[in-house]
Amino acid sequence: MLTLESEYRETCPGCGTFINEYHSEFCDTARCGITGDQKFSCDTFNEDNHECENTKWSGYWPGVKECFEYGLFSYFVPNLGFVPCDPEHPNAVCDLNTLLVRYAWDSNLQKRVPKNG
Ligand SMILES: [Zn+2]
Ligand SMILES: [Zn+2]
Repeated sequence: MLTLESEYRETCPGCGTFINEYHSEFCDTARCGITGDQKFSCDTFNEDNHECENTKWSGYWPGVKECFEYGLFSYFVPNLGFVPCDPEHPNAVCDLNTLLVRYAWDSNLQKRVPKNG
């Protein structure tokens, strides 16, 4: 069973920074505060040449909190891929792919919200 508590990490797995502290400059876990994309690649590839904003380690992998808020979970089925499920499923993981596709980054809230329409 998947719980928010079981996903909690005191330090960032990418750069080791603590909760509510900014990621290190080259951390590959950090998200850009403007686009919500991985900052490491946003820095290099963003098309509008914005100055990427660093973000803080929240205690959870980026998107995990939103998956719990919106109930996005799935488990892997061979030959089928990821299938939606409840967090009680023994193999449940946060459905970060669905979060990326159906939810847009809100730079004011610093999290993903349902896309309009
Ligand atoms: Zn980090
Ligand atoms: Zn950026």
